[in-house]
Amino acid sequence: MVRTKDQFLKDVANRKREIYFRGRRLSTVLEDEDLKYAAYHTARLFDYPKRTYFDESLNLEISKYYKIPRSSHDLLERHLLIYDNTIFGYGLFNISQAIGSDALFALLIVSKMIDKKYGTDYYSRVWRYYQDVVRGDLTIAVAQTDVKGHRKKRPFEQPDPDLYLRVVETKSNGIVVRGAKAHTTHSVAVDEIIVLPTRAMSPNDKNYAVAFAIPVDTPGLKLIVRETGRVSRTYIGRKEGVEPETLTVFDDVFVPWDRVFMYGEYDYAGLLAITFATYHRFTAVSYRAALANLYLGAAYKMAEANGVLDAKHIRDDILEIVIYKEIQRMGALAAAMYPLIQEGIAIPNPVYTNIAKLYSNSKFSDVLKAVVDVAGGIIATFPTYEDLQNEITRKYVSKYMQAAIDGERRIKLIELLRDLVVIGGGWYLTTMMHAEGSMEASKLELFRSYDYKEALELVERLLEE
Ligand SMILES: Cc1cc2nc3c(=O)[nH]c(=O)nc-3n(C[C@H](O)[C@H](O)[C@H](O)COP(=O)(O)OP(=O)(O)OC[C@H]3O[C@@H](n4cnc5c(N)ncnc54)[C@H](O)[C@@H]3O)c2cc1C
Repeated sequence: MVRTKDQFLKDVANRKREIYFRGRRLSTVLEDEDLKYAAYHTARLFDYPKRTYFDESLNLEISKYYKIPRSSHDLLERHLLIYDNTIFGYGLFNISQAIGSDALFALLIVSKMIDKKYGTDYYSRVWRYYQDVVRGDLTIAVAQTDVKGHRKKRPFEQPDPDLYLRVVETKSNGIVVRGAKAHTTHSVAVDEIIVLPTRAMSPNDKNYAVAFAIPVDTPGLKLIVRETGRVSRTYIGRKEGVEPETLTVFDDVFVPWDRVFMYGEYDYAGLLAITFATYHRFTAVSYRAALANLYLGAAYKMAEANGVLDAKHIRDDILEIVIYKEIQRMGALAAAMYPLIQEGIAIPNPVYTNIAKLYSNSKFSDVLKAVVDVAGGIIATFPTYEDLQNEITRKYVSKYMQAAIDGERRIKLIELLRDLVVIGGGWYLTTMMHAEGSMEASKLELFRSYDYKEALELVERLLEE
């Protein structure tokens, strides 16, 4: 069944969960004036006009996000879907079915490999779960990043054993897990949470090598939400909502066996983590290229508004953002063109994905610098929202904000840039540097997976001759 926006909002109201926000306990995001924008954000996904297609093998109309990529063409379509849906959302990514499908594809591949080695039945569990998700048109958060404690110690070496999520009890009908995942995006406003290991594990970490899926109303699951107010009150946030992260606490949560997708197979934890990460970084560069349009469009229009578009240094600033956007797109296109095929499923090429992601991580600060250079100081010193509501002050602000365009229009542009750079800039910089994996993670994977053969043979030939 393909859901509508109204059905989703009804479901979110009915599916109670344990949320903590600004010191209050809530059972749905709709109970809070700022946090409700999270549900509106998920709901917007269901308004995206090109979201579904008829899947022949399932004989069902389903979300395109859940289309299992089998080829280069499918990956290309996935890139375009994420890019286009982000543009539909005024440049804001909608994670609600993207991250969950990234996790499902990784699980479909790796569960088959585990079954082959250990004679387990994980693949059939993942497949049944996939069908439930697709038929219910469900939305999913993914909790992969553990809180991690001392970064140099392995899970089993931590002084407190709960600093990575682990199995604390095995029952005849399932397992009980304890621990906490950090930064779980949008868990407060989706239907399900998929949990994956965050790193490679050793034999001593067996209890930490666990993957599963649970509904968000599972007892013991506690969602402690970050501050969102400043984001949800912004110009775009009001239109498109917000994707808040949570500290996601698993306080002895029961998971039935049919929802358990890895249980102690420590030698596959790293592969599952990295396969998910590759899909998710492909998603990242696809939405980030679209998001870059916000900065590009706003900077270009401000340069026009200030009458400086033809200045050489302003053009350099604008080109900085063009290159940031297009390198990510080129990376996604190349990754789709040269996929790896594993267990019949196409994985975006890890080399091109990681190079584009690394560029995205490390160069966003240059985008912010370029936009600030173009915009001038007014984006930091602009009068308040309330003074724009006041007739007397609005008159003055409007008159004195005119430049190469009229004052009212320039006010809107300044507010947008203030949100993107002054209010949201630090948040976006942190996100661009760490979300979907930080730089070191991409570098490690790139160094590990890069095929040096061609280069080495070439130099070897020179040395031999
Ligand atoms: C906005 C946002 C949304 C996110 N959404 C999700 C989500 O939905 N689900 C999810 O699972 N995760 C999510 N993440 C988490 C994201 O993947 C992590 O932030 C990222 O992997 C970095 O981990 P960390 O934040 O714990 O940083 P840390 O691991 O604390 O890293 C900080 C620094 O320490 C370095 N470091 C860490 N360990 C070592 C070591 N052993 N040796 C040397 N250096 C080390 C790192 O390279 C980095 O430079 C999100 C993050 C953000 C910012």
